[in-house]
Amino acid sequence: MIIVIGGGPAGFFAATAAREANPDKPVVILEKQDRVLRKVAISGGGRCNLTHYCENARELATHYPRGGRELIGPFTHWGVADTIDWFAGRGVRLKTEPDGRMFPESNSSATIVDCLGSTARVAGIDVLTRHPVAGIVRRKSGGFLVELADGTSLECDQVLIATGGRTESPVENRSVDGYTLARSLGHDLIQPVPSLFTFKVEDSRWTEMAGLAVENAKIRAVGPDLPAKGFSAEGPLLLTHWGLSGPAVLKLSAIGARRFHEIGYRFELGIDWLPDRKQPAIEADLQDWAHRNGKKSMISGGPENLPRRLWQALLQVAGIPENSKWAELSRKHRNLLGGLLKNTTMPITGKATNKEEFVTCGGVPLSEVDLRTMASRVCPGLFLAGEVLDIDGLTGGFNFQAAWTTGRLAGIAMAGLGIPADDEGDPS
Ligand SMILES: Cc1cc2nc3c(=O)[nH]c(=O)nc-3n(C[C@H](O)[C@H](O)[C@H](O)COP(=O)(O)OP(=O)(O)OC[C@H]3O[C@@H](n4cnc5c(N)ncnc54)[C@H](O)[C@@H]3O)c2cc1C
Repeated sequence: MIIVIGGGPAGFFAATAAREANPDKPVVILEKQDRVLRKVAISGGGRCNLTHYCENARELATHYPRGGRELIGPFTHWGVADTIDWFAGRGVRLKTEPDGRMFPESNSSATIVDCLGSTARVAGIDVLTRHPVAGIVRRKSGGFLVELADGTSLECDQVLIATGGRTESPVENRSVDGYTLARSLGHDLIQPVPSLFTFKVEDSRWTEMAGLAVENAKIRAVGPDLPAKGFSAEGPLLLTHWGLSGPAVLKLSAIGARRFHEIGYRFELGIDWLPDRKQPAIEADLQDWAHRNGKKSMISGGPENLPRRLWQALLQVAGIPENSKWAELSRKHRNLLGGLLKNTTMPITGKATNKEEFVTCGGVPLSEVDLRTMASRVCPGLFLAGEVLDIDGLTGGFNFQAAWTTGRLAGIAMAGLGIPADDEGDPS
């Protein structure tokens, strides 16, 4: 028998792959909560962004701040095209948004939850909810005893830990998290910390602009405790009543997740509002605009295509009086404005979890797993898949794709079908 601990996307994909590959082997999913696939249900704002249109394994891997290099091999065995085909084969058609994110055509995560549930049912998988696992014991004679929180236990030949990332909630139902289970069987742990969060800003000049969005900005985190070049990311930026959000911020939070955690989420953020332009060219434009629009008030707007509220805030930060006319723009203020357009700085004083999607950076080290099969190198018969591993992606469907891929490989291997022919997946 195979036991899968965790009824999330990785667990379901693994269980289904195992059962379909080897119908003679019973498969049980143990889920501690009263419902399976909870995160799938709430994902992507209820729409489930289940993968990202990117068929090249190497390119796909660049979207993972942790685990990217190691995932190249697994993605060549189960990539985005395989995920699309898998769902299409079960009647779920997907659509691609202009930015590459893929959703079910129904625009509802229930389609994905139902598809995974019915596939598991048809495959004859036993899905046991309210079955929190409290321990795993490796038996001398081979196989495992999986101990449940109610004191009972189940025997199996192979066990998969697919318990997901770190939850913010206290340990429920006397279950233990997957990290503790993996450690009890000899694995190490890279400290789990949050990724994909938004930045807190306390300066009301910026938070008053809640709702303002900039199509493309380059942001850079700097500070004495950060690498000399800082961390940077580019993309849409959103000002909120709380601070900063949007794809650029989420990307930066992922890139610097571990370091930001170590420094208590306090650093300075520089924003380049016009990343495609150089400061001298911007200043030349300002000067030209001032010559041609001398009688106009500066507050009414300038040459750069920026939201008006943002422009007004920049004038305020530059110390330009509200009633100034363009003809009055001094060289000093032109320099100041040029500098601010390329680098507005603001202190970041904390983080908030992104409600749309958050993941855990850290987990079981990939060096301890055979990436062709997701088998533990430390404990024979143990497998690991999904977010419990030290893998995390950017927003855009990458985290689910990692769960589908690692779950699938684990399932096939647990079914006893060996390892894929090409061993590119294992760089060690
Ligand atoms: C709000 C939100 C929205 C998201 N949206 C997206 C998105 O649109 N696209 C995307 O790619 N990613 C998204 N993610 C990330 C994605 O949901 C996760 O990366 C993914 O679910 C990880 O899959 P998993 O199977 O490894 O773990 P999980 O989905 O976390 O599943 C693990 C399961 O194991 C169970 N479990 C844990 N411990 C035990 C135990 N001891 N005994 C029994 N059961 C146990 C848990 O209850 C859980 O059901 C989102 C995350 C959040 C929080």
